[in-house]
Amino acid sequence: MSEVSIFDKIIAKEIPADIVYEDDWVLAFNDINPQAPVHVLVIPKAKIPGFSSLADQEAVQVGEFIKRISQVANKLGLDPDGYRVVFNQGKHGQQSVNYIHAHILGGKQLSWPPG
Ligand code: AMP
Repeated sequence: MSEVSIFDKIIAKEIPADIVYEDDWVLAFNDINPQAPVHVLVIPKAKIPGFSSLADQEAVQVGEFIKRISQVANKLGLDPDGYRVVFNQGKHGQQSVNYIHAHILGGKQLSWPPG
């Protein structure tokens, strides 16, 4: 069994989060340490440890998750100007929470490449 992460506790409503969207598939909430004017995390309700584990998931799980990321970004009004979706994976990706999460970053001109 994988470790209980902070996002497990947010899903279980054991600790609070600033929730911007929720349905049967996902929870989306504001990042506690925002790196852009809009910085929202989207996590699936069924736990997946990280991006590399998506390879083992049923296509419907992956599809509904990715679809919700797009829907949340649209609901946040980011589509006209654009935004970035980031998955950090593992040590080199600087993943700090072992529960898959998509970062939606927007609300300003973002730079490229990342560090
Ligand atoms: P990562 O480095 O990709 O694993 O990103 C983890 C993200 O979770 C970071 O951007 C943190 O600021 C964010 N974070 C950690 N704890 C919380 C929390 N309790 N509520 C909201 N965001 C959090």
